[in-house]
Amino acid sequence: MARSMLYPLIFQPVFRRYLWGGRRLESVLGKKIGEGNDYAESWEIVDRGADQSVVLHGKLAGSTLNDLVTEYAVELFGKQHPWKQFPLLFKFLDANRSLSVQVHPDDAQAARLDPPDLGKTEAWFVLESQPGSNVYAGLRPGVDREMLARKIANGETESCLHQFQPRVGDCIFIPAGTVHALGEGLLVAEIQQASDTTFRLYDWDRRDADGRSRQLHIQESLEIADYESGPVGPQTPLPTDNAARVRLVTCDKFVLERWSLSESGTIPAVDSCHLLAILSGSLEIEHDSVPTPLGAGQTMVIPASCVGTRFTPLQPTVLLDIWLP
Ligand SMILES: [Zn+2]
Repeated sequence: MARSMLYPLIFQPVFRRYLWGGRRLESVLGKKIGEGNDYAESWEIVDRGADQSVVLHGKLAGSTLNDLVTEYAVELFGKQHPWKQFPLLFKFLDANRSLSVQVHPDDAQAARLDPPDLGKTEAWFVLESQPGSNVYAGLRPGVDREMLARKIANGETESCLHQFQPRVGDCIFIPAGTVHALGEGLLVAEIQQASDTTFRLYDWDRRDADGRSRQLHIQESLEIADYESGPVGPQTPLPTDNAARVRLVTCDKFVLERWSLSESGTIPAVDSCHLLAILSGSLEIEHDSVPTPLGAGQTMVIPASCVGTRFTPLQPTVLLDIWLP
């Protein structure tokens, strides 16, 4: 193969401001945000219509992620993935209030929508949790469609939801169809399919300043909710062949590992790009003898063609590594 045009890529984050946001994207993750207490999400890696990650450095500076997908699909994704759009979206979320209770379709269900979309399977990694912060994940045992419909109608949706107080470092895996909500006080990293389809079944009876409540999608939610899987708890980290890495999620949409690094090494070749998100510490990523420093709160895409990329921790460093199976 000709020498690759691609190199390890850093993108400009895309911020989303919502009522439930806060300041932790700056205070914990070091993002340069403006004034205001409503910074809710930092979209680190996105290729979805007008929402685009833009390369910050090097000869591809200014290119969107979709430009790269269009021009360099094989270099970026490896040989087995002819993606036309980057299939994952990675973000940080600062939830200062509980988010709505929602559910997402799977790929087959989403393909039947107008317009068609991807399904959405997602996973959260908890960066901060406050006393009383809850995760809502899955239905309680015995909740079937009929019961869920009745409880929603009676204003008792919460009684159907499995909930627990997560700890920092917990990973919660939410396959499509799992009823879920992020509770007040959580700061998380989230990896998800790049889908835009959310069905809301409960919004905590909230109203906005004008007295309006947000639209719910109760019939759609009842239709696609998974009544079989039951309560969802934190994932059990599994050992890998490398003591520095543990496996948090294996599914057909993404693989998620947590690395705890104190020694240098080489990014594993997996015939996929890697998405690295630094949670604490700092390291240098070296490709073609060019070192790039990366610190906590930063995210990088390492194209599949950049086999042999080296990393050197500058201090003990924890990061998430995500790739396409
Ligand atoms: Zn969701």
